[in-house]
Amino acid sequence: MTDDVRPSLGLRQVINVSGTMTSLGASIVVPEAIAAMSAILPQFVEINDLQRKASTVIARLTGAEAGFVTASCSSGISLAVAATITGNNLLAIEKLPDVTPERNEVLVQMGHVVSYGAPVEQAIRLAGGKAVLIGQATSTHRFHMEYAITEKTAAAVYVVSHHVVDYAMLSLKEFCEIAHAKGVPVIVDAASEYDLRIFLEQGADIVLYSGHKFLGGPTSGIVAGKKELVRNAFLQNMGIGRGMKVGKESVYGVMAALEAWEKRDHAGIRARETGYLKLWQETLDGRPGVKAVIEPDPTNNPLDRMRVILSPQEAHITAWDLADALARGNPPVIVRDHEVEHNHFYLDPCNLHPGQETVVASRLVEELDKARASNEIIATPLEERSKRRFAGLLRWPD
Ligand SMILES: *Cc1c(COP(=O)(O)O)cnc(C)c1O
Repeated sequence: MTDDVRPSLGLRQVINVSGTMTSLGASIVVPEAIAAMSAILPQFVEINDLQRKASTVIARLTGAEAGFVTASCSSGISLAVAATITGNNLLAIEKLPDVTPERNEVLVQMGHVVSYGAPVEQAIRLAGGKAVLIGQATSTHRFHMEYAITEKTAAAVYVVSHHVVDYAMLSLKEFCEIAHAKGVPVIVDAASEYDLRIFLEQGADIVLYSGHKFLGGPTSGIVAGKKELVRNAFLQNMGIGRGMKVGKESVYGVMAALEAWEKRDHAGIRARETGYLKLWQETLDGRPGVKAVIEPDPTNNPLDRMRVILSPQEAHITAWDLADALARGNPPVIVRDHEVEHNHFYLDPCNLHPGQETVVASRLVEELDKARASNEIIATPLEERSKRRFAGLLRWPD
């Protein structure tokens, strides 16, 4: 790549086969968004008018009545929850996270109480909400939700993600039906989802997306839904939303990313990604102790990933040691390793610049060859790996 600023900053030129990760800089921002951001940066604008324009674009793409742009999907969750607690009471908005009277309970299925890098439950608490967990980690039934709704209930949050328990939860449709029967608004966290319409169609009152994931926009969050609720969320910019503010460049950048998304050659991109997966599969097929399986996205986004399953006895290396070796290498290749204790990791083809797929393939070959040639099985205790991770963080910035 030309114009790569990373070497001059002393940063490693990482290759991302992990997915859209905040820790790696999210996604490759599309050229349309980059152009929009540089065009607007030198100009003054009336921000609320710019957000009105964003509302029109968001409404067109999502089918919502209105929308706006905030700092992140996580901010969007807090602002939406705040909206359900304060309504348009400007004084109540200033008082958050203090809440009087106490109508601030937010229902969440226990299997949805996940971390996306920070706890979803904390995003609720930041807004003065109190998460009321319904059901069990492995199942929610209608009665869990029906009987949990009281006069203190402000909202119900539904999380769509590969992180959540993916069986025996209430479907979004059912969740909305139960909430709406008692006048409770439903907030959907759809941060990583491609489908910009389906959750509102299924009954969500407000839905949150990340601008910087599949859309390839700047770091931002998109709030879309019923007009009054969206307005009440927008009003939080005079309160807790201030610390979550976005500049003109992010608002306009997301507008451009949304419009680019509309015109994107989705089939062409999918075909390119499939080509990468096939290359990696051919590279790994037949290697001792390695199995490469192409799998669909767990939340039905139109994308596949490759699961690389290691049998340490034969491959002479565990999945996590292979992941670490790839990450230490030159160039560093960062794989998707959140389930690595099962001795597999994933390769995500969505965030590659053309040509990097062959680098990934050759790095896999190098490390696997090296492991096979080793007399011992490379197997670091997994606990050491997680200790190392937090120890490093606690030393930052050293
Ligand atoms: C990424 C993610 C978030 C956080 O999104 P940000 O825009 O980075 O704040 C929230 N929820 C889910 C399910 C996510 O995947």
